[in-house]
Amino acid sequence: MLNLEKNVDLKPFNTFGIRANAKYFSRIHNADQMKELVRSEIFKDERHVVLGGGSNVLFIRDFDGLVIHNETKGIEKVNENDDTISLRASSGELWHSLVLHCVAENWGGIENLSLIPGTVGAAPIQNIGAYGVEVRDVIENVDVIDLGDGSSKTFTNDECRFEYRESVFKRELKEKIFISSVTLRLSKKNHRLNTQYGAINDTLRAMQVSEPTLRSVSDAVIKIRTEKLPDVRAVGNAGSFFKNPDISAEAFEKLKHTFPGIPHYPAANQRVKVPAGWLIEQCGWKGKKINHVGVHAMQALVLVNFGDAKGEEIFQLATEIITSVREKFSITLTPEVNIF
Ligand SMILES: Cc1cc2nc3c(=O)[nH]c(=O)nc-3n(C[C@H](O)[C@H](O)[C@H](O)COP(=O)(O)OP(=O)(O)OC[C@H]3O[C@@H](n4cnc5c(N)ncnc54)[C@H](O)[C@@H]3O)c2cc1C
Repeated sequence: MLNLEKNVDLKPFNTFGIRANAKYFSRIHNADQMKELVRSEIFKDERHVVLGGGSNVLFIRDFDGLVIHNETKGIEKVNENDDTISLRASSGELWHSLVLHCVAENWGGIENLSLIPGTVGAAPIQNIGAYGVEVRDVIENVDVIDLGDGSSKTFTNDECRFEYRESVFKRELKEKIFISSVTLRLSKKNHRLNTQYGAINDTLRAMQVSEPTLRSVSDAVIKIRTEKLPDVRAVGNAGSFFKNPDISAEAFEKLKHTFPGIPHYPAANQRVKVPAGWLIEQCGWKGKKINHVGVHAMQALVLVNFGDAKGEEIFQLATEIITSVREKFSITLTPEVNIF
């Protein structure tokens, strides 16, 4: 039996805390309900979007269609040997709860991705990453339901075509599939801890940890993120609003001539990645507040809703930031956040 609500305010369902009205709203508790919904008249008639934790979306107007809220739950072992375990998690599980579960069981691979908000199902969409780890490093496969005909399909890691904050699901298959579950392969012993990135080593030292474990690395990441990123319960935001751009080596050399201190990292295909936060800060945006919206004072990549901002105000701010970065650096920033 389908559940369908009408005229639902999406404010509690997006971490920006933006008020937007969904014409229809349906909560999905398992894959069968999703298939039933796909076959329904309302699904055929209305524009639709899947919402997980709403931590990577910006609604700039009311949603004149059907919002499908993913509330599917369940985690099961699908394979195990002496060294590794494969876990299939339903897409509506909270990502951070899955991380804590794995850390508690001493299963390694996702501890650096602690405290990323949102659901398991959204993780492959933009190949979530933090502190030197991306979810593609542990994904075995992704199960989807085709929103055209309701059929099921499994994507191998290769078929997901992961890139930095990208996958086939964010490009060609955007809004065409529902991710129903994700299978991860994790280590059971000889964990390869990744502590080189960012402030992890320094934080472990400050925590007086000399022999790091999955638990202490996860604790260190949680500590760093809690100190650095705004709490969505206190101030509306969607984490990094923009992707870090990569530019050609020639373009980078030209920029370096004018801005000798420009930070940079090697990217694929001899390109050069430049931190978007630095570019935004150089344009004077860090800590700026315009009416209800602004740029976070500690982290220029994070746009915030200080109160009852409208989605279009955030969008307007993002557009102004893109323009000023383009004028100063000839680099066009692209949003990481999904805009509706
Ligand atoms: C404070 C903060 C910190 C963050 N830090 C990071 C970080 O370190 N690294 C990082 O990569 N991201 C980060 N993010 C972004 C965000 O947490 C991730 O992108 C997360 O995976 C989004 O999950 P969600 O369930 O909230 O997705 P939603 O925002 O609900 O959806 C995101 C997109 O995926 C689609 N979608 C969601 N679920 C499904 C599904 N089951 N099937 C098909 N489509 C679906 C939606 O339609 C939408 O287009 C951060 C966000 C915040 C607010």
